[in-house]
Amino acid sequence: MNVVPDVSADHPTAASPESDNSLRAYTTLRLGGQAGILTVADETDEIVATVRNVGEDVLILAGGSNVVVGDAGFPGHVLLLRTRGVQVVERGAEHVVVRVAAGEPWDDFVADTVANGWAGLECLSGIPGSAGATPIQNVGAYGQEVAHTIVAVRAYDRAADEIRRITPEECRFAYRSSVFKHNDRWVVLEVDFRLTVSAESAPIRYAELARQLGVEAGDRVPLDRARDTVLKLRAGKGMVLDPDDRDTWSVGSFFTNPVLPALPSDEMPHWPGEGGTVKIPAAWLIEHAGFGKGFTRGGGVAISSKHTLALTNRGDGTTAALLELAREIRTGVHARFGILLHPEPVLVNCAL
Ligand SMILES: Cc1cc2nc3c(=O)[nH]c(=O)nc-3n(C[C@H](O)[C@H](O)[C@H](O)COP(=O)(O)OP(=O)(O)OC[C@H]3O[C@@H](n4cnc5c(N)ncnc54)[C@H](O)[C@@H]3O)c2cc1C
Repeated sequence: MNVVPDVSADHPTAASPESDNSLRAYTTLRLGGQAGILTVADETDEIVATVRNVGEDVLILAGGSNVVVGDAGFPGHVLLLRTRGVQVVERGAEHVVVRVAAGEPWDDFVADTVANGWAGLECLSGIPGSAGATPIQNVGAYGQEVAHTIVAVRAYDRAADEIRRITPEECRFAYRSSVFKHNDRWVVLEVDFRLTVSAESAPIRYAELARQLGVEAGDRVPLDRARDTVLKLRAGKGMVLDPDDRDTWSVGSFFTNPVLPALPSDEMPHWPGEGGTVKIPAAWLIEHAGFGKGFTRGGGVAISSKHTLALTNRGDGTTAALLELAREIRTGVHARFGILLHPEPVLVNCAL
């Protein structure tokens, strides 16, 4: 195990390095106080050994793109996952199973799958963070989610002190959720994806993407065209990391889209959810509750000027100010629509 070096340089989701243990340097929000101890694992064995030895008081951090860390930091041991490796473990005429190490930067992996002619992840282009974190909240965008392609997760089970292969059923994937989310029991070590050997994308399911591509929903397009178009759409919303663009100093969507048993009002846009439920865009609720793009009360934090769902650090923000803004938005949406928004990121040593 290493004492922490300047790992931020080789991990695209980390902010600029700092000489101390400040977690600002390792979160895309560039917020969060000090870690008690900060170490890096670049081998799978090191992850398991550290978690086993340290016990309860360890925070796993990879790209830091889905965490809000309190201004007091994390007094325990922060373990930065930087394991690397991508290998084809099964090759058929029409499919491959690709095993990827937890610390592998997600978008590099997606770019490789597109370049290799493997379909299934192209619409998940441009999402920050690590491959190992994708099962945690069943990462999804533009009509794809990792639940569609994950066939196994290799994880360390802290309760049983053993490494296990977990099936997709056991993962209990749901919208922005799985058995792993808000659950310290598992540390994801590797993920297996089953991808289709094809120069064309999976059927395009997302209306906005289909429109941008000039195709009908259900059509396929060349893989690289799907990737490029998703990247372009995301960049326009500040959803691709850019160190010079503070609209991207965020966790992406701060709130999940509420899933309700029925549509409360015909004025609301919605998508069909599972089992007859409806999903309402949280961005629409926020905007119609009076919080537009760029909204701020000061404190160095604001709603992104490109997307209502992203709460951003403008450079001198604090986690306290960010959470205050989130509370005001949540209260305002509840007062206007009677709908309670839930945060998408994991809150570490802080609360909404
Ligand atoms: C600009 C921007 C756009 C985004 N767009 C999207 C999007 O379109 N769709 C989407 O779903 N998400 C999106 N996100 C959220 C985020 O990128 C994903 O959730 C990503 O998978 C988080 O990966 P990470 O490595 O940064 O996780 P981290 O932030 O490091 O960790 C997140 C949580 O997972 C845990 N964790 C991380 N790795 C492991 C592991 N190997 N084993 C066990 N626990 C682990 C951590 O302890 C923490 O609780 C976006 C974020 C940003 C900043």
